[in-house]
Amino acid sequence: MFVLGKSKRIYLSSPHMSGNELNYIAEAFSTNWIAPLGPHVDAFESELADYVGAGGALALSSGTAAIHLALRLAGVSPGDVVFCSSLTFIASANPVLYQAARPVFIDSDPENWNMSTAALEQAFSAAEERGKLPRAVVVVNLYGQSADFTPLLKICGRYNVPVIEDAAESLGATYKGRASGTLGKFGIYSFNGNKIVTTSGGGMLVSDDLEALEKARFWSTQARDPARHYQHSEIGFNYRLSNVLAAIGRGQLKVLDDRVRARRAVFSRYYEALLEYDGLEFMPEAPYGQSSRWLTALQVDQDRCGVSAADIIDALAERNIEARPVWKPLHLQPLFKDCLYYTHETDGDVSAKLFEKGLCLPSGSNMDSDEVDRVINCIKECLNNR
Ligand SMILES: *Cc1c(COP(=O)(O)O)cnc(C)c1O
Repeated sequence: MFVLGKSKRIYLSSPHMSGNELNYIAEAFSTNWIAPLGPHVDAFESELADYVGAGGALALSSGTAAIHLALRLAGVSPGDVVFCSSLTFIASANPVLYQAARPVFIDSDPENWNMSTAALEQAFSAAEERGKLPRAVVVVNLYGQSADFTPLLKICGRYNVPVIEDAAESLGATYKGRASGTLGKFGIYSFNGNKIVTTSGGGMLVSDDLEALEKARFWSTQARDPARHYQHSEIGFNYRLSNVLAAIGRGQLKVLDDRVRARRAVFSRYYEALLEYDGLEFMPEAPYGQSSRWLTALQVDQDRCGVSAADIIDALAERNIEARPVWKPLHLQPLFKDCLYYTHETDGDVSAKLFEKGLCLPSGSNMDSDEVDRVINCIKECLNNR
């Protein structure tokens, strides 16, 4: 059936170009706009802002840079506290350290795997008692699914603390009919190579606060004062997106809806094929919105199905298929070992459990039906031979 080592590698999430990108790149070349800034950057910003319905957008060199500038806009300074989802990629919290602030991690809700309202409530009560409220809250939309913003925003609003929405994984998803990434005071997207659409590397900061975006724009280009000579009164960064990469982004944005459909279809194939197996539980889709299913994620209960997530990852690797564990929660990272953490339930750590049993399957929008079958057959074989 399979020839070991001969089959083409199946990646977790690889770039998927449409062809449109080359036309835009050719335009950048023919006009010699091979620079950070340029007409493609401006157009990419306004096209993305239109797509998600944000007041404005700022194209940056990465999603991490966008989070960093959002934290600065929120006024996060040395010694400040920032609340952040624990079950996420390190990039959600690294910029908190860039600002010499301290992250406090918040557990997940098992219903949607995103920030738990109950845990956030507890963290705020404790912070109030200590007399030190957070300067900002970073809410992550995991694997393409929006967090439950209505209750989260209500709590943050009560304490008057701005929300930064890390929508790096959820561009194209919705929450109660609104585009993911536009629920917080600031939203960020990533166009890293593994994301739903990519510029190879890049990011975007969105907000309805255009004045704040202008400030971030200033910071992102070395904070150069308006003067004929080079004059600087504030610290700045070199965070702008290149015009060539923005050209790729414009081409990708045109097919974003197709990419969401394709990833959701990959999820459906896995779901239907593996439904019959006891002990596999897919990340639920919350009723309040549509997930982009950036990655198909599931829980593998070894007691019930006889194999662990790690066993499945190994079996897939043998067949030249890339699968990964769920993000290791940030409160379990050596880097953050001294940080506070608030769990969803008094007696249980939800994100740690999701990590323990979590598995992410290849989910690229460019996977063909045979490739999805290869993954499914390998998992079935692994489960049947336990
Ligand atoms: C990818 C990602 C980022 C960082 O984006 P980059 O563009 O790689 O800097 C931030 N947060 C989450 C949740 C991500 O998945």
